[in-house]
Amino acid sequence: MTNTTTELEELLMQRSLTDPQLQAAAEAAADFRILPDATVIKIGGQSVIDRGRAAVYPLMDEIVAARAKHQLLIGTGAGTRARHLYSIAAGLGLPAGVLAGLGASVADQNAAMLGQLLAKHGISQVSGAGLSAVPLYLQEVNAVVFSGMPPYHLWTRPAAEGVIPPYRTDAGCYLMAEQFGCKAMIFVKDENGLYTANPKTDRNAAFIPKISVDEMKARGLHDSILEFPMLDLLKAARHVREVQVINGLVPGNLTRALAGEHVGTIITAS
Ligand code: ADP
Ligand code: MG
Repeated sequence: MTNTTTELEELLMQRSLTDPQLQAAAEAAADFRILPDATVIKIGGQSVIDRGRAAVYPLMDEIVAARAKHQLLIGTGAGTRARHLYSIAAGLGLPAGVLAGLGASVADQNAAMLGQLLAKHGISQVSGAGLSAVPLYLQEVNAVVFSGMPPYHLWTRPAAEGVIPPYRTDAGCYLMAEQFGCKAMIFVKDENGLYTANPKTDRNAAFIPKISVDEMKARGLHDSILEFPMLDLLKAARHVREVQVINGLVPGNLTRALAGEHVGTIITAS
């Protein structure tokens, strides 16, 4: 280790920060997981929260029960209100960075609502999911609610085409899990998982229980149930090398997925 540090230090002083040998030396340190016992759950915006009470209340009950056994980081999607904002803002010719901020405000609204529903159980909403008090909340009550949009705002890297911010709440929640070295990442949506086509519009769509990122791309499913840049984030992951997408409208699914059961589609990095 001492050698590695010295070597790295020398390389850092002399080379470009993207130099391959420097990168390899930087990789040599053992991985460290910041919150290894936590699971990130993303509660879908359009798919779940926009359905209101019928979808949200049962999930809150499952969360409250589950946190007896599991540390939960609960992130929110944005959904229909964000899509409405995007359409108006794009029509006004506003750039991706502005749209990212608008989308974030909707994920914030959803986090505020879930925070109020969970308040009586001692579960708080944190603004800015950057660590701050998150470890303390987890230690004390095993759960915390955060807004799922990554805080890129004006600094959003625009997509190759168009002004819709490419990294939205799927990516935001996933990056929390990956950066914190969490145990698992579960996407709670309104279909059983990934299908060969959108099950909302294709009656012949067949369910896919497990698939890799490469297979998803090969089958043209890269832009389907998860935001497509998510797949590259997953493929390059160090910690969270698979995610599960589950149907949160089916009672018990979240509880089972938290227990490590395979109840939806598992998407793997390799
Ligand atoms: P969120 O609410 O988390 O943002 P989305 O609504 O963006 O979730 O994504 C979930 C939706 O993706 C599903 O409701 C489904 O209609 C759609 N979808 C599109 N293609 C597929 C597919 N191949 N398999 C499953 N769902 C798909
Ligand atoms: Mg979405």
